[in-house]
Formats: sequence, structure tokens, C-alpha cells
Amino acid sequence: MKNSILLAISLLMLSCVQENINSDDSKIENNITPGEYRFERVYGETPDGYPLPLTGKPITKQTVIVKNTEGLTKEYPEYFTPDEELGSEEMRITCMGSGNPPVRMGQAGSSWLVQLGNGENFIFDVGGGSVLNLWSMGIPMAELDKLFVTHTHLDHVGGIFPLYDAMGWARNTPLRVWGASGYNQSLGISAFCKNIEEASNWHSTSKKGIVPSGGMRIEANEFDYSLFSKENPRQLIYNENGVKIYAFPVDHLLQGAVGYRIEWNGLSFVYTGDSVPTSFEAEQSKGVDVFAHEMFIDAPTFAEKNSMPLPVAENVVSAHTPPSKLGEIFSIAKPTLGVGTHYFTNDDTVDPAFKGLRSTYEGPVVIGQDLLVINVTRDQIVCRMAMTDKLMWAPPAKSSDGNQEMEDVTSEGRTPSFVTETRLN
Ligand SMILES: [Zn+2]
Ligand SMILES: [Zn+2]
Repeated sequence: MKNSILLAISLLMLSCVQENINSDDSKIENNITPGEYRFERVYGETPDGYPLPLTGKPITKQTVIVKNTEGLTKEYPEYFTPDEELGSEEMRITCMGSGNPPVRMGQAGSSWLVQLGNGENFIFDVGGGSVLNLWSMGIPMAELDKLFVTHTHLDHVGGIFPLYDAMGWARNTPLRVWGASGYNQSLGISAFCKNIEEASNWHSTSKKGIVPSGGMRIEANEFDYSLFSKENPRQLIYNENGVKIYAFPVDHLLQGAVGYRIEWNGLSFVYTGDSVPTSFEAEQSKGVDVFAHEMFIDAPTFAEKNSMPLPVAENVVSAHTPPSKLGEIFSIAKPTLGVGTHYFTNDDTVDPAFKGLRSTYEGPVVIGQDLLVINVTRDQIVCRMAMTDKLMWAPPAKSSDGNQEMEDVTSEGRTPSFVTETRLN
């Protein structure tokens, strides 16, 4: 009896699936598109009236900031979807990871994607889990080959393996990585990249002759941290095609930690990775359109939520920026939009963040969450959430496919014959 009911249910489900596959327009019939699975939570607000995390709204009360009252205002769809075109004069900044260690399903490790109207893309940090968000944006992987690392804490670089693995026909050119030198050679970005390549040796060797290996290289672009000084607070470390990227030191434990400022077409974005608040970083971020800076919960809450001793929580918190201090940073830098990110963005942490920020700063602020989209033009800044496809296929590259030549298959070290002889043909 039980079996026959199960069989009936299975047949019913199978017929439903077949109906959908055969249908010309199954999406409409179901009234569900893959992207709609993105927001699993029903919209709700905190006691102070801010949108709750993961409900499809940016966590702010000001989603549109007008820069130029006589300028053009552009209307955007309610949600960003990957098929949306970027205006040729616009900058689009998307949060690929807003979280902390430990990585959570609702918040990947730190990462930001900056897309420019000239077709170029720049990735800033690649924390664990962030590549899932990145691939869901439907951008050809070959066009995601420029990574700028603020520092090599694992919550900022833990996603480098899946980014590096965009091989085969996806990206046949090296992954280009920028970062600072360290106090000694082993602490710099060149050593980090070499170690990633070496750790991937089994992976790369096994695929020789199967797929092109041009993508399994990392081109490290290390800039000299020792050149920074009071008189030389920033270095121009990227200057191509009208895009300028400056690096400047931030106060985060060791030499080598930097923030970045990208400028193009009169539009700008600063991202500072991790830091205790300094007026130095605020000065380097003055007048920027969008300033994404870390923000940390208070030590007692951190200790309680993470089940850790209070003195340890206090040590960690002291290396970061509380919301009230972030407000002070924003008061000096005066960004058009401030972003508090790298935060434990939970239902009960949103109001305390804004209380802290508002004690020292009154300007527009949004709290970072994964897939927050910020469109920047000369006239306005607009915040929305992206609705992306969790099962996105990688689209073909628009530009060069790079080197598709195959290397010779490695004959040494292959699976032994006593195993291969038993293949089921
Ligand atoms: Zn860090
Ligand atoms: Zn961090």
C-alpha cells in the first residue's frame, strides 16, 4: 500500500517535470524564475525601520543619493539581474562577499566587483564563498582576470582557488593579481601567488593535454610597500585604458595591508579591506563616490555569538573598526555613499550598527550584504539588490580567448595499469 502511494506520487512528479520540460514557456507556467529563489526570506524591518538582511532590499533608508540636482536621473528596475546592460558612462559596484570568518551561507568572505562602462571588470579581494556570487553574475570568466588583494588574511583570499580554476575554455590567460610586498619576501603577494600555483601542481599537471593550460598561471604584480611614507601616502599601481588604481597603507597588524582607490571617468570607489580607523586612510578616501570600509560588532556580542572568551573577542575587536569610529572616518572622507561592510549582518545587529554610525555621522550609509549592487553616475548613486541565477552557466568570452594551445600530456605518474585495465568500456 505504502509503496503504491509512493509510486503514484513519483509518477505524478515525473509527469509534472516532463510537462515543464516539454512546455515552450515553463518559466511563466511555473511563475518562478531561478533568480526568485534568491530571496528566501519575506520582507521585514528591524525595530528602527531598516530592512532585515536577505530580504531583497539594501540595508539603508536612502537607496537613491542625488549628486547633481540638475543632472539626469536614471530609473533602474527594482532588482538587478545579470542581463541588465551597464551604461557606457557608469560604474557598477557589487558586493560579492560582505562577511567575516567564519564564512556563512548568507555572507561570503570579503569581495567586491567593480564594473566599468568601458567593459572592464576589477575584483577586490576574493574571500571564501565569494566566487559563487561572482559566477552567478553571468560575466564571462575570461573577463574576470584582474584581482586586487588588500591583504592575505584568508577571509580576503580564501576564494582564490575557484577563481584560479576558471580554466579550459573559460579563461586561457593568466589570472592577474596585484598586492603589496611584505616585511620580508615570504610575506608579499608574489610569494603568495607562487605558493598557490605550487599547491595546485597535481591539478595543473593532471589536466595537461586535456584542456589548454594558459589559464593555470598567476601573474603577480607586486608593488613595493616600503615606498609608502608620510610624504608618499599612495602609489599609482594600475594605469591602463583611463583607469587609475591607487594603493595606500592601512593599519592592520602587519606591513603589506593596503586599501585601494579606483578612479575612472570622474567616478570613484575606495575599499580598505581591514583596518583600525586612522585619519590616514580617511584622507586617502576624501571625496570618493562610494567608500566601503569594514565595521565590527562589539566585543561582548562577538564573544557571545561566536562562543569565545571575552578577552579573545576583545583582542579581535581591537584590530577592527566599531560603527561609531566608522562614522568618524566618513566624517573626514565625506563619501557620497558610505558602506559599512565585513560586518556580522544579522537581524539584531543592524540597529546597533546604525546607532553607532549615527552617533558620529549623518550622511548616507548602507550596510554591506552579498549581492548589494551600487550604480554610480555623475548625477546619482542608486542601491539595489541583485537577483541572480544560482545555476548560472558561464557565458562565452566576448574578447580574446587567450592561448588555447595544448601542452603535451604528462605520461609520468598516471593511474597504475592494475586500475586502468579494469575500466568498464
Ligand atoms: Zn584582515
Ligand atoms: Zn577581514
